[in-house]
Amino acid sequence: MEKILLKNIENPNSADIREYQKTGGYQSISNAFEMQPRDVIEEVKSSGLRGRGGAGFPTAMKWNFANADPKFPKYLVCNADEGEPGTFKDRPILEKNPHLLIEGMVISGYALRAEYGYIYLRGEYPLAKDILDNAIAQAREKNYLGENILGKNVKFELSVYQGAGAYICGEETALIESLEGKKGQPRSKPPFPVNVGAWEMPTIVNNVETLSNVPYIIAIGGEAYSKIGREDCTGPKLYCVSGHVVKPGVYELPMGTNLRDIIYKHAGGIKNNKKLKAVLPGGISTPVLPADRIDCLMDFISMPKHGSMLGSGAVIVMDESVCMVKVAHRALKFFEHESCGKCVPCREGTGWLRQILGRIESGKGKQGDIELLSDITDIMSGRTFCPLGDGAAGVVTGMLRHFRDEFEEHIKSGHCKLSIDN
Ligand code: SF4
Repeated sequence: MEKILLKNIENPNSADIREYQKTGGYQSISNAFEMQPRDVIEEVKSSGLRGRGGAGFPTAMKWNFANADPKFPKYLVCNADEGEPGTFKDRPILEKNPHLLIEGMVISGYALRAEYGYIYLRGEYPLAKDILDNAIAQAREKNYLGENILGKNVKFELSVYQGAGAYICGEETALIESLEGKKGQPRSKPPFPVNVGAWEMPTIVNNVETLSNVPYIIAIGGEAYSKIGREDCTGPKLYCVSGHVVKPGVYELPMGTNLRDIIYKHAGGIKNNKKLKAVLPGGISTPVLPADRIDCLMDFISMPKHGSMLGSGAVIVMDESVCMVKVAHRALKFFEHESCGKCVPCREGTGWLRQILGRIESGKGKQGDIELLSDITDIMSGRTFCPLGDGAAGVVTGMLRHFRDEFEEHIKSGHCKLSIDN
C-alpha cells in the first residue's frame, strides 16, 4: 500500500512547506473549496472514515451532529494528547508531516464552518511544538491559514495549545476543560461537545491521524478511499509496535491487518529467539491477548470479537520472560497516578487494585486476593465517569482471564517463578 499518512517522511526536510508542496501538498484545499461544505462532509461519509483516537466513531456522523447545531462560532480541536502508554503513532505526523495535519484541519474547518482550530498537544512533545509552530507560520505566510484563504471567503485560524502532561486530558471533555484553562477533569455527557463544547460552543474533537486522512479523501474521493482496508473499517492505519520485537516502530498498513502479520512480518518477530507470551494490542488500557490468540484483524469491529480492542493501535509485545503480575501492577500504578479523582469507583478502585497487585508481586499475596481483585473490577466496570476506570479494570480482568495461574502461583509460592528461572 502506498504511504498516505507517512508519505515522504524519510526526506529530512519533510516538515518544510516547500517539500510538502512538491509532492502535491495543499492541493486538496483548492479542491475542497470548489465544493460546498456539506459535500465535503458527504465525501468523508462515503469514505467510511472512523476516528482514530480509540473509539472508532464514524467521523462524518460526528461532523453532522455539530453541523446541525445552529450556534456559532464552532471550534475544531485536534487531539494530539498522545498519552496512552505504548502509543506514539501520531508523533511522526506531528514531527515529520505537520502540513498534512494542517491541511486536514483547514479542509475540516471549512466543512464544519469552524473558523478557529486548536491543536491540543501532549506536554511531553516539546519538539513537535516547535515544528508545529513553524509549520503554522509557513502555512499562514502562504495564505493557507488566516483570512480569505487562497482568495476565497474562508477564514481559519490555528494555534497550538500545550497540555501539562495529564493522561486524562486525552478524554475529549477533560481536554476541553484544560483548553479553557481549567483543571483537566471530564464533564458529564450529555450534552456532548458537538453541541456544548469549548466555551459552551459546538466543538469537534478529532484525533491527529483522523484529520490527517482528510486531504487524501478529498484527493481521491470517498468512494475510492473506502476500498482501502476493510468494509466497515476503511483507510490506512498507523500501528505502533513496541516491546520485544526485532523492529519496533510505526507501520502504516491497511486497517484490519492481521495482528500476527504486524508482529512477525512487519516488526520482524520476537527478539533473541524467544517465544511470544502476550500482546496488549491497542495500548495499556486494552485487554491482553495470549500468544495463541493473535490471529485477529486489527480493526474496531473485529477486535472486540477476540476479547480486546483496537484502541490506539499501540501493539505492546511481551516475550516469555515477562511476569504478568508485574505488568498488571505497573499498569495499575499508572492508572492510580493518572486517575483524576472525580468519581469514587476509579479513585478508590485503582488504588485498591494497585495495593493488592503490589502485595501479590512482592510475594505477600493472601488467599482470596484474586477473588478480591475480581470483585473490585466488577464494581468499577461500567460505573466510572469516563473510560479510564473501565480501562484500568479491563487490564486486570484480561490478565486474570488468561494468566490466572501466574497470580495463583505467586500467592502459593510467595515468589515469581520467572525471576528464578531467568
Ligand atoms: Fe476521573 Fe477516573 Fe472518574 Fe475518569 S473514571 S472521571 S479519571 S476518577
